Amino acid sequence: MINSKMYELGSRRSVIREIFEYGKKRKAEIGEDKVFDFSIGNPSVESPEAVTERIRELLEVHPSTAVHGYTSAQGDPNARQAIADDLNRRFNTSFSGNNVYLTCGAAASLTISLRSIIDADDQNVMVFAPFFTEYRVFIESMGAQIKVVPASFPKLDLNLDAFERMINEKTVAVILNSPNNPTGVVYSEEQIKELAAILEKKSQEYNHPIYIISDEPYREITYGCKPPFITHYYRNSIICYSYSKGLSLPGERIGYILVPDVMPDWQKMYAAVCGAGRSLGFICAPAMFQHVITKCAPLTSDLSKYAANRDLIYNGLSELGYECVRPDGAFYLFVKCLEEDANSFCMRARKYDLLLVPSDDFGCPGYVRIAYCVSAETIKNAMPAFKALAESYK
Ligand code: PLP
Repeated sequence: MINSKMYELGSRRSVIREIFEYGKKRKAEIGEDKVFDFSIGNPSVESPEAVTERIRELLEVHPSTAVHGYTSAQGDPNARQAIADDLNRRFNTSFSGNNVYLTCGAAASLTISLRSIIDADDQNVMVFAPFFTEYRVFIESMGAQIKVVPASFPKLDLNLDAFERMINEKTVAVILNSPNNPTGVVYSEEQIKELAAILEKKSQEYNHPIYIISDEPYREITYGCKPPFITHYYRNSIICYSYSKGLSLPGERIGYILVPDVMPDWQKMYAAVCGAGRSLGFICAPAMFQHVITKCAPLTSDLSKYAANRDLIYNGLSELGYECVRPDGAFYLFVKCLEEDANSFCMRARKYDLLLVPSDDFGCPGYVRIAYCVSAETIKNAMPAFKALAESYK
């Protein structure tokens, strides 16, 4: 027998992947520079030179058995300590390496965190629309139900009234993602405080903790604001981090879970995280990149290029009359379609070789997501196509 759910997941590509594959084919047909591919969040700025130097050093100076060998399941102690030191310096916390569990990126951090919390199939995990599409896959694969809190217009921040109405005694966690994919919105301190107050109240009422799983792969990519550091506001928070975006290392699969020492039962939760990683078959995170992180945890790529791109695309599309949500972080722009059906709008955009992602799977129909982690040239050259697309609706 073949598991039908897994078959379905594997045979039906995600919309983003499907567009990305189409883009590759189209580029081969008409040339790279003629296709404006805004489909995928693949970083476009180089990793810092220190990362390359560290890789060289690891390969040239250290014995390969040490570089490529298994580490402890929770990660190399030096890498874990380096991450704790970096967080403590920046956020005035007092974590140790024992709060950190190294993973194969944010996706692994999320599945492991969900696995360590969910333990019955009538439980639910809440997400705020619009949300990263894979949350549905991760939550449902862990045997729980996803509860989608409807979007809050026009700011697309947290819809806390709806959240409070929808949460129930079977809610075990809520996933928070700020800066947000697909909108670039950074949730305000006031909203985080309000969310924390609701969760405190409901945890008492239902007599069990309701966790925040804070998915933060874009934490460092912000434009003049700082996302509130979640453990300062709510103790039952787990942070899922990844170096995919900030250090431009998405293919290397390196990130971590932070179980903060302010969580009342943190040692028990940390053990459950180790157990969940074990049950999902994660022996350890990629060893060479753990050793890279030991030296490079505080660094980022040159993120100022995304800030310049943000201005180019936001100003350019606004001037053309598109209604856009101004992003304060990440590298995505959420744009209202010029017709009701986002899929049909994206198909029309394809005629101009503009590859955009329809928002339906993000839980907020009628919009498109534009990943502007591309070259500034691509954005500039795409403007006539966006203009022609807009004019085709007049
Ligand atoms: N969470 C969000 C919001 C993302 O946008 C992504 C990737 O784009 C992930 C998680 C997965 O990140 P990673 O590649 O580190 O697994």
